[in-house]
Amino acid sequence: MIKPDYEFAKRSLVKLLLEVDIVLIYLNTTWLLLLKWNLLIEVFCMPVDFAITKEQEELKAVVREFSEKYIAPRVVEFEEKQMIPPEIIREMARLGLFGVVIPDKYDGLGLDPITAGLVLEEIVRGDPECSLAVTFLVHTSWGYIACKYGSEEFREDVIRKAARGDLWIGIATTEPGAGSDLTGISTIARREGNEYVINGEKAYISGVREAREKGTWFKEGGGHVTLTYTDKSKGHRGMTFFFIPLTHPKITTRLEKEIGRKGWSFGSFTLNDVRIPETYRIGDEGRGFYIAMEGFDHARAYIALTCAVAAKRAIEIAIDYIKQRRAFGQPIAKFQGVQFQLATNWSRLEAAHALAYKALWALKMEQEGKIGRFEVTKIVASAKLFAVETAKMALDDAMRWMGAFGYTEENPVALAWKAVKSYDWAEGSSDIMRLIVARELLGREYIK
Ligand SMILES: Cc1cc2nc3c(=O)[nH]c(=O)nc-3n(C[C@H](O)[C@H](O)[C@H](O)COP(=O)(O)OP(=O)(O)OC[C@H]3O[C@@H](n4cnc5c(N)ncnc54)[C@H](O)[C@@H]3O)c2cc1C
Repeated sequence: MIKPDYEFAKRSLVKLLLEVDIVLIYLNTTWLLLLKWNLLIEVFCMPVDFAITKEQEELKAVVREFSEKYIAPRVVEFEEKQMIPPEIIREMARLGLFGVVIPDKYDGLGLDPITAGLVLEEIVRGDPECSLAVTFLVHTSWGYIACKYGSEEFREDVIRKAARGDLWIGIATTEPGAGSDLTGISTIARREGNEYVINGEKAYISGVREAREKGTWFKEGGGHVTLTYTDKSKGHRGMTFFFIPLTHPKITTRLEKEIGRKGWSFGSFTLNDVRIPETYRIGDEGRGFYIAMEGFDHARAYIALTCAVAAKRAIEIAIDYIKQRRAFGQPIAKFQGVQFQLATNWSRLEAAHALAYKALWALKMEQEGKIGRFEVTKIVASAKLFAVETAKMALDDAMRWMGAFGYTEENPVALAWKAVKSYDWAEGSSDIMRLIVARELLGREYIK
């Protein structure tokens, strides 16, 4: 007679539970629903593990070396010359850093948002002035969205070039008459056969010059994912997203003068009967608003990280200064008033830093189908709001500790302060972050 192997049966059941997400068992006339235990943990609580993998550590080391060798020594030059030296962009491309989250099928590295955050962190540590952070985070977030919702032809054509660092992808939703309220935009896309004809104007857009000029920073220049109306009568459900190459002859551009992060341009562009192929539509007609919202979540999570890391790096620079600089017979660092401000700011920044990674984790969980859209949006909005506010306070104090030198153009703390300030508005203002968090906590009926 064959003896039942209970050990084998137990091992098989455990294996089954580990491999499948949901199991139904019929026991004593009752169906039991068993959910995979680690699915439950991942959905209902964040696994608190701050360790990174060996591969992530190796990638960080490569980017750190690039950042220390190529970026850090030239940050002041970014502001003075008002451009990122093209050779830095080319080195970033050589390292594959423009394809971090793009699938390897399209020549990217196929990594997750947390790993992209680790890359960004090393870039920001070299450049607290943040021009290169903007270059990386905008392209990474909106490149991911364009790849996710773009057609196969679009991926083969544009996304492949973007992943190789031959083309830069930016975002253009803001217009002269509408920023926070996206339904106020006027840009219209009209379908004509297999093409769309687009008219309108976009304002306060990052990377206009770099996308317009083929060959200087990127072999093919670049373009922006852009929100338009295809049917205004339907309100936000009548909006459609497109990729617009800024090299198009029917586009004119104009540059604005930014206060900070001057290495990456900022300006507007006008679309005058710009004809683009249907394949440049990102997602279905009428889905543009929702796709834009998803893209903002990616960009905002990276921004939260950028602000926390730029401020932490600036504080480290300020620490070196206040240990050297003396007043009333002792180093500034010996005044307890300064020490207490330092400890308070650093602790807040640690919290902002951790919350930024929680936001990146939420994006990763969403990609794995374990967390819903609105929950992600709430976590990300809190992270961006908190990081911007916390970083501004810390940088303000750090500049003060450095006296008049704190208020000079070449001071990295001042450069970080100007950059972080831009995130009071860029990719969604702090007030809009508050509205999102309040809406998710109170319910939509409480927010207009
Ligand atoms: C450096 C920089 C770079 C940028 N880059 C880009 C880019 O690449 N692409 C792009 O599309 N846009 C870009 N922007 C524009 C940015 O997205 C907008 O500035 C932002 O969305 C706010 O829009 P707005 O400036 O028109 O302000 P408005 O919408 O006019 O708002 C003005 C003020 O009113 C507040 N406000 C608005 N509505 C409410 C409300 N309901 N409750 C409470 N307060 C409210 C806002 O918070 C803001 O402080 C950039 C901006 C900056 C500063």
